Amino acid sequence: MKVPLLDLKPQYLSLKQEIDEAIQRVVDSQYFINGPDVAKLEEEVANYLNVKYAVGVSSGTDALLIALMALDIKPDDEVIVPTYSFFATAGVVARLNAKPIFTDIDPVTFNIDPKDFEKKISAKTKAVIPVHLFGQSADMNEIFNIAKNHNLFIIEDAAQAIGVQYKDGRFVGSIGDIGCFSFFPSKNLGGFGDGGIVTTNDEILYKKLKMLRMHGMEPKYYHKIIGGNFRLDTLQAAVLRVKLPHLDNWSAKRRQNAELYSKLFIEKGLAEEEGKILIDSKNKILLPKAVYKEHNNVAKNYHIYNQYVIRIEKRNELWNFLKEKEIGCEVYYPVPFHRQECFNFLNEKDENYTHSNFAADHSLALPVYPELTNEQINYVVNCIEEFFNK
Ligand SMILES: *Cc1c(COP(=O)(O)O)cnc(C)c1O
Repeated sequence: MKVPLLDLKPQYLSLKQEIDEAIQRVVDSQYFINGPDVAKLEEEVANYLNVKYAVGVSSGTDALLIALMALDIKPDDEVIVPTYSFFATAGVVARLNAKPIFTDIDPVTFNIDPKDFEKKISAKTKAVIPVHLFGQSADMNEIFNIAKNHNLFIIEDAAQAIGVQYKDGRFVGSIGDIGCFSFFPSKNLGGFGDGGIVTTNDEILYKKLKMLRMHGMEPKYYHKIIGGNFRLDTLQAAVLRVKLPHLDNWSAKRRQNAELYSKLFIEKGLAEEEGKILIDSKNKILLPKAVYKEHNNVAKNYHIYNQYVIRIEKRNELWNFLKEKEIGCEVYYPVPFHRQECFNFLNEKDENYTHSNFAADHSLALPVYPELTNEQINYVVNCIEEFFNK
């Protein structure tokens, strides 16, 4: 049985008529830049996330970049980021000639370790970028209190986390100063190409973000500040508007798939419980743990599983084994920032990042996309069982 890591076709086919009509509407109008769909998407996303303002941008990476620019991050300023994330989180800091300062991650959630964050603050620190990795909120109360005690800005990297709620019910991207989202096709809300959006509750930041997106221009051809071309295409906005109302449903299906994986791994005796972080003979697979929130006496899982990531001892062997079985898997991420060649100049000590190093060496993401069938999930679990019984 073939099980791809991600198959975008069934989602498109389920909305084909509506999406094709939306694209044709834009093509007929020839209004490709700043067309009405962009402002409508911004309003709809802001409403969905319960945040005052949203500004469509060209990608998740540019969302992070424009956020740092709006907060006036300058050369030699320090910005704290977890060392275990997609490259953009640190790359944008370095591109402004500011200095990325790395922290280790929490071994259960894969997210920034608040204690290590606090330790890394210096007189030069201006901001922190917590990442809601794999679709689960970072520990925002802790991060917020530490950041605000030290007058730091918070930029949330919510690229993998649109629709994720923090344990108090607030949506990620509405908690810090600026939230950054990606519409890369493999995210839970994916466009037909690159795209992203930034969110804020601050009117001054909102106006600045809008100016920066159009070369810092206001009015036309008068440039108060230096920005760039960070616009979201009208075509992307039109496609995303069709998809947004289905997002919660898709995330719920990912959650069901994730819960089925964990249940089967536990039933087969390959793992003891979610969130256990010791590999031994009883707990061969480290399962991801959702942080649950009691809501009307019902435990509510806020994880949206952009990725379902397990950790195992012989990761590369299992990866090859599953490849032979035609099961798509991926390693997010094999090289944390402190080990990247481009950051050699920071002279980081590898031993300061034990949890990130462990994750980089042992993580494997299994297929979890919404349209995956229970039969496929059972097949993946059976193949992994076979691997351990070899
Ligand atoms: C995808 C991603 C980005 C970048 O988004 P793009 O739209 O690909 O530029 C940034 N941070 C994280 C954590 C991501 O997963």
